Amino acid sequence: MGLREECGVVGVVGDSEAANLIYLSLYALQHRGQEAAGIVTINKEGKFCGHKTVGLVGDGFSKETLSKLVGRVGIGHNRYSTHGGRMLQNIQPFSFSTAFGSLAIAHNGNLTNADTLRKQLEEEGSIFQSTSDTEIFMHLLVKSQKNSILSRIVEVMGKVKGAYSLLLLAEDRLFALRDPYGFRPLVIGRRGRAAVIASETCALDLIDAEFEREVAPGEVIEIHNDGFIKSHIAVESQRKAFCSFEPIYFARPDSQIFNEEIYSLRKRMGAILARESNVDADVVIAVPDSGVPMALGYANEVGLPLELGLVRNHYVGRTFIEPSQSIRDFGVKLKLNPVGSSLRGKKVVVVDDSLVRGTTSVKILRMIRQAGATEIHMRLGSPPITYSCYFGVDTPERSSLLAAQRNVEEMREFIGADSLAFLSTEGLREALGNGNSENYCYGCFNGDYPEDVGIVPRKQPTDDQGGPGLRAGL
Ligand code: 5GP
Ligand code: MG
Repeated sequence: MGLREECGVVGVVGDSEAANLIYLSLYALQHRGQEAAGIVTINKEGKFCGHKTVGLVGDGFSKETLSKLVGRVGIGHNRYSTHGGRMLQNIQPFSFSTAFGSLAIAHNGNLTNADTLRKQLEEEGSIFQSTSDTEIFMHLLVKSQKNSILSRIVEVMGKVKGAYSLLLLAEDRLFALRDPYGFRPLVIGRRGRAAVIASETCALDLIDAEFEREVAPGEVIEIHNDGFIKSHIAVESQRKAFCSFEPIYFARPDSQIFNEEIYSLRKRMGAILARESNVDADVVIAVPDSGVPMALGYANEVGLPLELGLVRNHYVGRTFIEPSQSIRDFGVKLKLNPVGSSLRGKKVVVVDDSLVRGTTSVKILRMIRQAGATEIHMRLGSPPITYSCYFGVDTPERSSLLAAQRNVEEMREFIGADSLAFLSTEGLREALGNGNSENYCYGCFNGDYPEDVGIVPRKQPTDDQGGPGLRAGL
């Protein structure tokens, strides 16, 4: 497998401030990728101007750097990957000089047939510069015998499998494409005459661009340097498969993707979770930040007070160096600290969005217990994650997924809760809405992937995994 990436992408066409607008949009999409960022613009002479940086957007671009990224058209990328190390060659956008001009590419998603395609291409003589699956796109485009870039893109879309919300800069034109399942979001905005494409609407909000619509699954949007937009249906979408982990965890709550405002959706998940697994308690708290909207929905539904039970330090990066073995386990404490009065002597409902490895939950619950909570009822706003994702969410291997190894009662014991309950798959479908829920992928919850991933057998989790439904404990 190549890199698995969760990412944020943005493209601007038709504005002399393109680089600055991309920079700001990447700020708004920082949650989609904190490992590296890059911007590529194209100047009047058709030459690329680019800058890439490891780390956060705000740390890696100076005013001087941005002023060198001239041009009215450009794309940007935030990268999240935890695979493949921090190879500089893997930072996007990738840019290439080809027989038909300069091309740059930025990709969010994961190609499921990357290994096969790459092997084929290498056997045919292609030389890869990175270990990223994104580069495969470029090689296929260049090798295509079709005349126009658009028909080359359509041809490549017929060859690649998996998830891609992708921006392709071809001289003065921008192409925005989304795989026929629509796994990852991609939205279109307008800023005066300029067009903006971004992973989420929160990027449009920041730069005062008006949300127009989403790029449809299987659609290619072609934007000329004057901002004129043309739509092509490249691949007929047989079945949509929006990633259900986007509304659960990944997207920002103030974004509107997959025809939904994420905040309302998460509150709905929390409310349904409460109806499914209400428990006698004094207070509801959230695991910040991801659990907050669901905790609100939960508390509103059952009429319990929502208190700030854990305070998050916002200055802790995703990766930090643990000073020494003797003071290990500071990880979660560095990030979260309990608020005594919210917890002392209380029966506490703790709401988080998801349980992945269970390792942070163990530490959080221990912390809450030490702060004096008398009972801890852990509630998750999503069903147990029992399978890996092959479509762009960096879930660990099955062997590291707590729910793939243990039933609910065993998980309860592992994390040290008095009771544990998950949102049911039916509850999740209900939250996503009638008529819309069948447009989602639930692969990480049930192993039923919309496309053959060729790796894991399509096995349904056994009933005994759930024990008494999806809850355990009191
Ligand atoms: P666990 O207790 O399973 O170790 O961790 C669960 C927590 O991980 C939840 O708070 C959830 O929001 C968070 N989480 C889920 N997916 C991701 C991810 O892709 N990246 C990060 N940093 N956190 C995640
Ligand atoms: Mg979280």
